Amino acid sequence: MKYISTRGGIDPISFNQAVMMGLASDGGLLLPATTPTFSSAEIKELAELPYTQLAMTIFSRFIGDDIPPADLRQLIESSYATFSTKTVAPLKRVGDLYIQELFHGPTLAFKDIALQFLGNLFEYLLVREKRSLNIIGATSGDTGSAAIHGVRGKKNINIFILHPHGKVSPVQEKQMTSVLDDNVFNLAIEGNFDDGQRVVKELFADLDFKRDYQLGAVNSINWARIMAQVVYYFSVYSQLPIAARKDFTVVVPTGNFGNIFAGWMAKEMGLPIKRLVLATNANDILYRFIKTGIYSSGEVMPTLSPSMDIQLASNFERYLYYLNDRNPHQLNERLTEFAVSGELVISSKLFEKMRENFTSVRVDDQAILTTIKDTWQETGYILDPHTATGVNAAHEYRLQEQTDTAMICLATAHPAKFPDAVEKAIGTPPTAPPSITALENLPCRFDLIAADTKAVKAYLIEKLST
Ligand SMILES: *Cc1c(COP(=O)(O)O)cnc(C)c1O
Repeated sequence: MKYISTRGGIDPISFNQAVMMGLASDGGLLLPATTPTFSSAEIKELAELPYTQLAMTIFSRFIGDDIPPADLRQLIESSYATFSTKTVAPLKRVGDLYIQELFHGPTLAFKDIALQFLGNLFEYLLVREKRSLNIIGATSGDTGSAAIHGVRGKKNINIFILHPHGKVSPVQEKQMTSVLDDNVFNLAIEGNFDDGQRVVKELFADLDFKRDYQLGAVNSINWARIMAQVVYYFSVYSQLPIAARKDFTVVVPTGNFGNIFAGWMAKEMGLPIKRLVLATNANDILYRFIKTGIYSSGEVMPTLSPSMDIQLASNFERYLYYLNDRNPHQLNERLTEFAVSGELVISSKLFEKMRENFTSVRVDDQAILTTIKDTWQETGYILDPHTATGVNAAHEYRLQEQTDTAMICLATAHPAKFPDAVEKAIGTPPTAPPSITALENLPCRFDLIAADTKAVKAYLIEKLST
């Protein structure tokens, strides 16, 4: 399989090159040159496979000959052996909905599904190519800890994660700083999340430094992350009762458009998803786009679902490329328009096309709390605040559409990761699973450092030259 850029500025590259490149060198996002598809007979056969074999079948279509099957199988097996359930992404019946729990990985959020695999894949490719990689990123919580757990102890990789000192949740802080592997460096920045992001951006802007020290990013735009996420949509199908498989609706709590893009890809590949419901919190850029066809940024507002507090969705360009008939020229025009005016408008024809696949519901903090409370009272199931946006959106969608197709809500985090929001909703914090209670007594390691690019650069140079 060859990979191309949404902006049309690179020659086709291999899967391996696409993984190592991350962001396309022309500034675009990488995509497979053709979309693999499965017939409905093949999809029925896929439904019989356990999760890791399902992943194997789907990944093989995207990778082709770039990784020998035995090696790929090994990478997949070790990536999902760290999950607390063999099903990896179990589907549960909760009231009149289904909930797919994507939080059984090491950091209890759905990002583990992609990052456990990406860590193994990076190690495999780096060792094979005799190269090394130093990952640098700033985090406000979820991505940083999932990335650290994805690459801890891996050969040829170091990871440096900047978090705002004292400003991430206690669970997230512990999940990051209790990892004591030699290749993991936690930098607690004396500043806020934006300071951390600025420092990382300035480090990457120094191209000589970036090249000399093999710096790379952890971000949600790596193609391998999307590919890994396609699998659990197929796994929904496998776990649904046969009568419900004909067509079903999936509700996705959305920030960067990564998770929901994987769902759209699964639909393109032949999975009979009727519609995708995009749930946002008060940070509603994607909600406004789906309602009006106009994409225009707003101010980021803090909410009870912090991992969705995003106003520019980094994976959205992938979808726009397909929507614009895979025409990079047409896409570039839209992107230039957006860069100049801060607004991107699609034609009414494309708007209709988009509305066949997507609908959206915006959920404010009050509705998040009410949804956690109502769901708990009616079913005994405790939602985390991100998943609650999805469940609220599912109820709204049912009311609007008067539909009785199966509704699947993706649960993106374990409630015990966000105990304050849960306690606010139901009066008591959720019971912490063993992996969280165990954190309490673990030793931690981090280095406190000024929110200053020079200081961080000196730190990197010191660590990387020993
Ligand atoms: C990252 C994250 C999201 C948003 O996912 P996207 O792929 O950015 O849309 C939602 N919920 C949780 C808990 C997350 O960590």
